[in-house]
Amino acid sequence: MQGSSYNRLNDLQAEDSDPQDTGSVLESTNGQKCKIHTTEDIKAFCKDDLCSICFKCLLGEHRKHDVFMLDELQVSDLSGKVSQFQEKVENQITKLAGMREKVGSIKENYDKKFESLFAQFRDIESLFINGYFEQETLGDLKNGKHRQESILMKVSKSVE
Ligand SMILES: [Zn+2]
Ligand SMILES: [Zn+2]
Repeated sequence: MQGSSYNRLNDLQAEDSDPQDTGSVLESTNGQKCKIHTTEDIKAFCKDDLCSICFKCLLGEHRKHDVFMLDELQVSDLSGKVSQFQEKVENQITKLAGMREKVGSIKENYDKKFESLFAQFRDIESLFINGYFEQETLGDLKNGKHRQESILMKVSKSVE
C-alpha cells in the first residue's frame, strides 16, 4: 500500500506542476516569435514589408519604415492618424483663409482703383459740363486734343 500512496503523492505533485508547465508552454507558443530574432516576441507590423517584426527589428532594419505597434494599434496609431488628418484639414482651412484674405485685398484694391477712376471720370464730366473742352476746342483744337489725350493717359494708368 505504501507504493500506491507514493504514486498518488507523485500524481498530485504532477497535477500541481502540470498547469504551470502548460501555462508557460502556451505563453511561449501563443506569442509569435520573430523569424530573425527567434527569442524576441512579435511587437509590431511593418506596413512597408507587410511582415510581423520584433522590437529589435523595429529599431533595426525597419527603423524608417511605416510600422504600427500591435499592442497599441487601435488607440495610439489611429489617434495619431486622426491628429495628423486634423492638422492637414487645419492647414487647408488656414490656406483657404489666407486665399480669402488675398481675394479680399484684391477686391479692396480694385474697389479703390474703381473709386479713383470714377472720381477722374467725374472730373472729366465736370470739365465737359463746365464747357472746358468746348473752350479748348474752340480756342486751340490741337492743344485741346492734346489735353484730352493726356487725360486719357491718366485714366488708363489708374486702371493698370
Ligand atoms: Zn526581429
Ligand atoms: Zn520594414
